[in-house]
Amino acid sequence: MRTRTRVELVRAAAKAREGAVGGEIITGANVESASYGLTCCAERVALFRALTSGKRDFVAVAVVARAAGGPMPCGACRQLLAEYAPKAKVWVADRRALRAVREFSVRELLPAAFVGVPAD
Ligand SMILES: [Zn+2]
Repeated sequence: MRTRTRVELVRAAAKAREGAVGGEIITGANVESASYGLTCCAERVALFRALTSGKRDFVAVAVVARAAGGPMPCGACRQLLAEYAPKAKVWVADRRALRAVREFSVRELLPAAFVGVPAD
């Protein structure tokens, strides 16, 4: 497994939003593939880890990498956040400037998300 971008519910981000987080921190990292298309972003790795260990009701997802302004979640990650963590805050930060956390709602990142076909 190679890692380039790390996504964590990091203590630094939690401190930046002190009082907003009191629960468990579940981390993830990119799992990359030579075929690129099979690569799974750290956000989804962390979400899958949390879901498969029975976690629900997510408070926040912090996406941290060495990237100006912080790395924004891709479309696939936004879709899964809309389905499984719709009320979570999404914190994005450049790891070199963790105090400059930008906060988004999942709805801001994916308005009018597809979350299944409503039953009649
Ligand atoms: Zn992604």
